[in-house]
Amino acid sequence: MTALAIPRDLLPADGRFGCGPSRIRPAQIDALAALGTTLLGTSHRQDPVRSLVGRAREGLATLLGAPEGYEVALGNGGSTAFWDVATFSLIRERAQHATCGEFGAKFAAASTAAPFLAEPQVVAAEPGTTATPVAAPGIDTYAWTHNETSTGVLTPVLRPRGADADALTVVDATSAAGGVKVDLAQTDVYYFAPQKALGSDGGLWFAILSPAAVARVDELSSRWAPASLSLSAALASSRKNETLNTPALATLVLLVDQVEWLLDRGGLDWAAERTATSSAALYDWAEQRDWTTPYVVDPAQRSPVVGTIDLDERIDAKAVAAALRANGVVDVDPYRKLGRNQLRVGMFPSTPPADVEALTRCVDFVVDALA
Ligand SMILES: *Cc1c(COP(=O)(O)O)cnc(C)c1O
Repeated sequence: MTALAIPRDLLPADGRFGCGPSRIRPAQIDALAALGTTLLGTSHRQDPVRSLVGRAREGLATLLGAPEGYEVALGNGGSTAFWDVATFSLIRERAQHATCGEFGAKFAAASTAAPFLAEPQVVAAEPGTTATPVAAPGIDTYAWTHNETSTGVLTPVLRPRGADADALTVVDATSAAGGVKVDLAQTDVYYFAPQKALGSDGGLWFAILSPAAVARVDELSSRWAPASLSLSAALASSRKNETLNTPALATLVLLVDQVEWLLDRGGLDWAAERTATSSAALYDWAEQRDWTTPYVVDPAQRSPVVGTIDLDERIDAKAVAAALRANGVVDVDPYRKLGRNQLRVGMFPSTPPADVEALTRCVDFVVDALA
């Protein structure tokens, strides 16, 4: 079979539409190269790197609107490691997990398996819909995912009304932070990794902690935890603009460049408007074709950063994704375990809306050519 060639004038300027790792802007790579012989390859306990970490912590607090008294902590291991960190250092006795997809379910599995915690409550929703935390007595930690990357469902970030006075809200914002608006006063812990909306690389976690979260960390610091999973240790290092062990310096450089790029353009308001424009183009397109359907039925629950579009069963989404890939338009495959005949499109702030529009034209062309 000869590869199907998409006409050049239909192609997006940049063909990367993955949901993480997501596209990194070429200017970020230039910023990295510019530090190639001064910062890269130097000690993470000395000033150039520590001031970079300081810029990351301050920039993230400003970008995401951290209220007075909130602190930014970071450590190695990405969001997956943070589930274990939270299991050791944030859940006192019993958590509630509102889950509507793979990522929320993974944190629920981590806290369920912990022998020192009570069985958590799991409020599960059908994939493609949202799960809302519900206040219940005796729950000390409410956990949910702001943007469920496996399904493209956005869940509001609001404290459950009637929760115990010192219950914490712990929100996985891995694919939301930097691309979706949020009121951090509704959260005690808003955590993420930098390879999605923040357009950097993987391997680190960041968490914005409220004073109540910091108090919980202090309270639980006498519980045994592996040093690499102790939030108490991570917080102590973070306050010195360090990490417990060596971080990837390149990831930090790319992140700081992205955070400052977003701040220069108008911060989270600008980013959220841009992702709203991109996603409106995608969902409008999907509603106008009789062979495409937005997977998330309720428009209010559709993510502005991760769009999931089901294709009619007569069209093989795998063949469409393969034809796109052969033309340099990559990573529009659905989340593998969801198992749907679907395209999933990352629309983080680094992606201009014009590229999303170009992608829809490419899909039209490929589907027509394959028919
Ligand atoms: C990607 C993702 C994760 C996992 O992040 P890692 O840094 O790879 O561990 C967790 N939660 C959500 C919502 C994600 O999108």
